[in-house]
Amino acid sequence: MKTLINVIVNQKAAAKLRKGYPLIEKDFVQNNKVLTEEGAILRVLDNKKTYIGTGYYGLQNKGIGWIVTNNPEEAIDAAFFTKKIKNALAHRKALMEDLNTTAFRVFNGEGDGIGGLVIDYYDGFYVVHWYSEGIYSFRSEILKAMKKTLDYKGIYEKKRFNQKGQYIEGDDFVDGERGEFPIFIKENGVQFAVDLNDGAMTGIFLDQREVRKAIRERYSHQADMLNMFSYTGAFSVCAALGGAKKTTSVDVANRSKPKTIQQFEANSLDASSQEIVVDDVFQYFKYAARKKRTFDLVVVDPPSFAKTKKRTFSVAKDYTELLKETIDLTNNNGVIVASTNSSSVEIKKFKSFIDTACKEKQVKYTILEQHTLPEDFRTIAEFPEGNYLKVFFVKIKK
Ligand code: SAH
Repeated sequence: MKTLINVIVNQKAAAKLRKGYPLIEKDFVQNNKVLTEEGAILRVLDNKKTYIGTGYYGLQNKGIGWIVTNNPEEAIDAAFFTKKIKNALAHRKALMEDLNTTAFRVFNGEGDGIGGLVIDYYDGFYVVHWYSEGIYSFRSEILKAMKKTLDYKGIYEKKRFNQKGQYIEGDDFVDGERGEFPIFIKENGVQFAVDLNDGAMTGIFLDQREVRKAIRERYSHQADMLNMFSYTGAFSVCAALGGAKKTTSVDVANRSKPKTIQQFEANSLDASSQEIVVDDVFQYFKYAARKKRTFDLVVVDPPSFAKTKKRTFSVAKDYTELLKETIDLTNNNGVIVASTNSSSVEIKKFKSFIDTACKEKQVKYTILEQHTLPEDFRTIAEFPEGNYLKVFFVKIKK
C-alpha cells in the first residue's frame, strides 16, 4: 500500500498549480517534513486545505514530484496507468502506422500526463525511462499496464535516478525476449543501428527526427558537411544520403568511430570515403584553421554540459564562443545548424547567442528554419520548459 501524504503549498504555488503547471517544486511546499519516502502519493492542498491535485513524491532536478490528476477520487493504480498509456498511443497513431519510421517516443512524461515517466519504441521493443525513485516505485503497476496495452517483443528500462539524477548501470532487460543487438530501426526510410542494453544511450536521439529529415532533404546536396559532437554520426548519414560531397564527423569518445561506421554501413554507404575524427571539437577547430579547412554545412549539437580532460563546457556559458569558432570554418552562404537540448537555456536566450556570435564575427545571417520537439515528444503549454529542444538553421553571409 502506498502512503498518502497531505502536502500544503504556498499561495503563489497554488495559483500556478491550479493553472496546470504539473511540477511540484521544492520551495512550493510548506510542510516539507512530511516528505520522507519517494513514491508516496501526495494530496496537494492550498493553505486553506482546499484540494488542488494528486501526485507523487519523486526527486527530479528542481522538482520534488509531479501532479498527475486533478480528480480527488482518482486512484494512482494499474488502471490509471493503462488509461494514460492508451491515451498516449492514440496520439501516435500515424507514427505507429508509418512503415518508414519504426522508432519514436510513445509516452513523454508530463506531456502525456505523468512527469518522470518516458517510454520509447524501437521496432517491437519498448524502453521505459524512470526519472526518479518515486516513479520507479510504481514499476510493477506501470509494467502491468504496459503488458496489457502494448504488443511487444521485449521491454528494456533505464533507471535515471542516481544521486546526480543520472543513469544507473546494469542489465536493462525487463520482459519478453532479449533483442539481438544491434537491431536496425527505420526513420523516414533511413536505417539506424541501436542497442537498447548498452548504457544510458541507444545510438540515436529520437527527438532530432525532423532535423535529420531537413538536413537530408534540403541542406546537403553537394555540401561539404561537418558534424560536431557527432556521437554515432546520425546527422552525417543523413547528409550523405542527401547528396553531400563529403561528411566529417567529430566526437571525443572513442566509441563514436566504430558506431559511426556502423550507421553508414547500415545504409549501404561507404564509410571509408567519409572522415570520422575522434577528437575534442575545440582541438579540431585549431586543426581546421591550420589546414584552412572550411565547410558548407556545419551541425553543432553539444551536450548541455560536458567535461573532458582539458575543459568543462556548458551550453549556457560557452555556446556563443562555440558558434564563433564555427563561423570561422563556415563558407560564405554556408549553413550552421545550431542545436541545443539544454532546458535551462530558453529559446530567446539561445537566439541571442546566435546573434551575438554573428555580430562579434561581423557576419550577416538569416534564420532559414527553426525546430523544437517533434509531435511524439508531446509537451503542454503549461510547462514550456518541457519543450527543451531548440534548433536553428542559420545561413552565414561573409
Ligand atoms: N549530435 C548527436 C548527439 C550528441 S551527444 C546526435 O544527434 O546523434 C553528445 C556527444 O558529444 C557525445 O557523443 C560526446 O562524446 C560528445 N562530446 C562531449 N564533449 C565533447 C568535446 N569536447 N568534443 C567532442 N565531442 C564531445
